[in-house]
Amino acid sequence: MNKPKMATEKGNSRVMMLLGQLERMNGESMLRDVEMARQVTTKILHRQTCRFELFGVMPNSRDVQTTLTILSILTELLTVGRGRRVGVFVSKGGTGVLFQILVNASKEFPPSEELMLQLHSLLAKVGPKDRKFGMKARLSGALNVTINLMKRNLLNTKLLLPCLQVLRVYATSSVNAISLGKNGVVELMFKVIAPYSKKNTSLLKVALDALGALLKSKTNARRAVDGNFVPVLLNLYLDWHRNDARHRYMLIRKGLLVCLKNITNIKVGRKAFFEANGMRILYNSSTECLPVRTLDPLVNTSSLIMRKCFPKNRLPLPTIKSAFHFQLPHVPADGPVAQLYSQLPGVDDVVDESDDNEEPEADSDTENDEDEKDNCSLNDDIETDINKLHPKRSIGRSFEELKFYKKFFSELFEDFQVSSFTSRSEVGSERVKQEGSPVNNTRHIQSPLLLGGIPTRRVGGGGSNWGSDCGSEGTEDESGEGAVLEVPDTAQLLPLHDPDLYVEMVKETFSVPRYAEVAYPDYFGHVAPTSKEPLLERLYGVQRSKIFQDIERLIHPNDILDKVVYDLDIPSCPVVEDSGESLKFNSQFESGNLRKAVQVRKYEYDLVLNADINSNHYHQWFYFEVSGMRVGTTYRFNIINCEKSNSQFNYGMQVLMYSVQEAISGRPCWVRAGTDICYYKNHFARSSIAAGGQKGKSYYTLTFSITFSHKDDVCYFAYHYPYTYSSLKMHLSKLEDLRTPRIYLRQDVLCETLSGNSCPLLTITAMPESNSNDHICQFRNRPLIFLSARVHPGETNASWVMKGTLEFLMGSSPLAASLREAYIFKIVPMLNPDGVVNGNHRCSLSGEDLNRQWLNPNPELHPTIYHTKSLLQYLAYIQRAPLVFCDYHGHSRKKNVFMYGCSVKETVWQTNISASSSDLQEDLGYRTLPKILSQIAPAFSMGSSSFVVERSKESTARVVVWREIGVQRSYTMESTLCGCDQGKYKGLQIGTRELEEMGAQFCVALLRLKRLTGLRNHQNLLDLECDIIGTQHVPIALFHVGSSLTTYVMEEDEPSFLEAIDYSAESNDEDGEPENELCCEVQENFDLLSDSETTTGTS
Ligand SMILES: [Zn+2]
Repeated sequence: MNKPKMATEKGNSRVMMLLGQLERMNGESMLRDVEMARQVTTKILHRQTCRFELFGVMPNSRDVQTTLTILSILTELLTVGRGRRVGVFVSKGGTGVLFQILVNASKEFPPSEELMLQLHSLLAKVGPKDRKFGMKARLSGALNVTINLMKRNLLNTKLLLPCLQVLRVYATSSVNAISLGKNGVVELMFKVIAPYSKKNTSLLKVALDALGALLKSKTNARRAVDGNFVPVLLNLYLDWHRNDARHRYMLIRKGLLVCLKNITNIKVGRKAFFEANGMRILYNSSTECLPVRTLDPLVNTSSLIMRKCFPKNRLPLPTIKSAFHFQLPHVPADGPVAQLYSQLPGVDDVVDESDDNEEPEADSDTENDEDEKDNCSLNDDIETDINKLHPKRSIGRSFEELKFYKKFFSELFEDFQVSSFTSRSEVGSERVKQEGSPVNNTRHIQSPLLLGGIPTRRVGGGGSNWGSDCGSEGTEDESGEGAVLEVPDTAQLLPLHDPDLYVEMVKETFSVPRYAEVAYPDYFGHVAPTSKEPLLERLYGVQRSKIFQDIERLIHPNDILDKVVYDLDIPSCPVVEDSGESLKFNSQFESGNLRKAVQVRKYEYDLVLNADINSNHYHQWFYFEVSGMRVGTTYRFNIINCEKSNSQFNYGMQVLMYSVQEAISGRPCWVRAGTDICYYKNHFARSSIAAGGQKGKSYYTLTFSITFSHKDDVCYFAYHYPYTYSSLKMHLSKLEDLRTPRIYLRQDVLCETLSGNSCPLLTITAMPESNSNDHICQFRNRPLIFLSARVHPGETNASWVMKGTLEFLMGSSPLAASLREAYIFKIVPMLNPDGVVNGNHRCSLSGEDLNRQWLNPNPELHPTIYHTKSLLQYLAYIQRAPLVFCDYHGHSRKKNVFMYGCSVKETVWQTNISASSSDLQEDLGYRTLPKILSQIAPAFSMGSSSFVVERSKESTARVVVWREIGVQRSYTMESTLCGCDQGKYKGLQIGTRELEEMGAQFCVALLRLKRLTGLRNHQNLLDLECDIIGTQHVPIALFHVGSSLTTYVMEEDEPSFLEAIDYSAESNDEDGEPENELCCEVQENFDLLSDSETTTGTS
């Protein structure tokens, strides 16, 4: 025991003694009070009185002077001691006693001013330390005492200040805020803060804080609008802005902005702000504040308000439905396409609807009914039906239906007569001779790069005058016609690339817009650059400056060009005349999807992406061509109809750029490019009907700046490394060249897609060692590995990973040979060719996400899924279900590569649903493969992996293959679009080399999976794995419920960013959330009434 502690304890006991006296003095009158107050306070007092009776030597006096004396000693005691004494005071029910004295004293007329002053000063000290302060005040009836006191003493600064300080605490409770508003406190506060005056600035500061808190309530905000206080606030802000040259009153200025910010959370508030010229006032004042870094809070809050109040607008499009329509074989009446095309014209018109249809705010007494909605919604997405969690083993289809698929598994039945043995290998080597023909060392390329012999009719367009110039013909020195570019042979750099073959493949690819051009990057090919590409560091204030430029458009509309330079919806597209003043855009090639380009300033363009075909949204992927640029000039590009609420573009990801000039100079590379990149909510929106019945949704802007370094260049920009369907076909054809006599490679066409593209199916394994019975038997009995990729067209990284897998499998390394001898690989490398061809991001031509159709795929509408699932059903039927199923995807919100798997146990842990221990008998084999990957693949992260079965994923490949086909190791492998934050590649953006490496490492991991066991018997293999896992790095913890072995994947995977991406009413830049306050209060009430103590100062 040391001295200071003694002192504190002594102080504490004095505090308690004084408290005891106060209680006694008010004991009698208390009984006459409001029923509710009495109940609650009695509980506190009763409990305390017993202890305080020890100190009960003081006379039971009701003399004001005695009370004052005690209060002043108390004040003194509570002022020293760093708040610990306040804590003791609160925990002993002191707040309640003070309120009681306050209420009692108010009944005297006139109440003693000094007593009121003392009480409020003390309450102002205690309030912030008492979590239940607001509620205690309300229940004791103290709110009105304070308000009436203020009303009577508006000019009495000395008394007003402590009252405001207490009010500021009252108002943090939303229930109190509403009640105070009803009693005219909002209007009262405006009397305190206006007109502008530098007298009593500390009072003003407190008053603004209190007002800001009051205005968080929408009812109060409405009151302020009705009272016409928005112009008052704006003018006050201007006054302070002008008269605070030395920035000494930042807090007052900020306080005014917070009031405006809260008022503009409601629609009428935004309207009033706009009409009061708020945009211009805040824009101009912020511009003046910008050079002073200490004024950043003002600029940021102003920016937030302006963004909110920027009038919502529809996109500059005739309709947000995709520019192209594809006629489906049949249109299900309840499907998305039927709904989309039955919408009335004008559906896209946007009104600011964010406040409409809103219930009037909760009144003071409804607080108890709010239950734990939040807790429920947290697990909404997780499967909670234990029966649905267990794999069901019935295939649900007859063998009659499935036997059709036998033809795709001829390896399981082939007997390898000598003839087939030799002829196969001969065919392989012949192909090498035929198709591996060397490409000319230099080639001459005409620009534009048009396909000959292909009809160039375009759906939705004029049909003539096709093929925008690529721009590289130059304007001065060449006549366009004879423009010739010399290109080095990319085939030397890229052994599996062949431009001529690519063009042949494009000719056989069917696109809805009937593309007749070839993008240079796909033609030349891409070589991964050798230099590292670190995540882009974000410069301070980038987003803010971009947003200010956006707001400037509204403030100075005459500076805006608004010149449409590219427009798919206009038949004569591209519309730009060659004046040299504008960039030229094009994306009428495979996987391209730019719909419109508008030049807004000399070097700034708004770009609008096309929706997925037969839909009106899913904008994220992009791929387009730019030419006609000036060297050394920085251009700003804004893709204005993005939809995700956040993006890795805010966390270091750059766009991809491909320069034809660079390619010609021997560097055919997609490179990470762009500066000043950010992603934020903009003022464009779609109506609630167009958004599918939800609230109208805002769009987001991806902005980036580029400085071009070559004259007469043609550059391409993409969301991620493009990988077209034609590239796949070329690649598969080149893979044939890698076949040796030892490799068994078969390529089948699984089915045709809706638009007539074929869906390839590959079988890769090793040829049997000989045609002896034993060898044939070993061959046929190899476990199957089933892989697929690219069901989501925008996730091109999945294709690059698949490319890595395929090349590894076809490789000459001993590992590859062992792998082929160990397994039979069945691979569907592109589940959604139509989506890829047409530049979709998410869907197929049916306007649906194919990875949500696995439960019940329709053979006509979802042929690739239907037939892939049938293959698996067939395998299940013949009892050859694959050992591993993995569907490759890309992930737009997270870093690294990781897996989603399926586990009953881990799902149960996440949900806390009751399950018997027999329900939880589960083999742990599902963890082995990701575990191995995390050890050998540098980009892979076990920590990001999850094995929870989410309800929203119940129709995905992973879950259906697990549940219906009974594949325990059924996975989705997600590769980041951005980069890594762990391992060897930490801090780097991901490139095709790393993605391909991942695909190869996946194969190596499969081999290790095999070697871990050394057994051919599946069941033993699983058991052994369990042992290994159980005894290795993850012992006991694996069985420990509640451990964080599995991460439940949250919506937001990055820490919230400094600058608010979103500016909606719910998003907060710095303040606490009023909604939570309400919940908190509910809990408080509950605590109080159930007589449980939350704070215990002693012990
Ligand atoms: Zn995906």
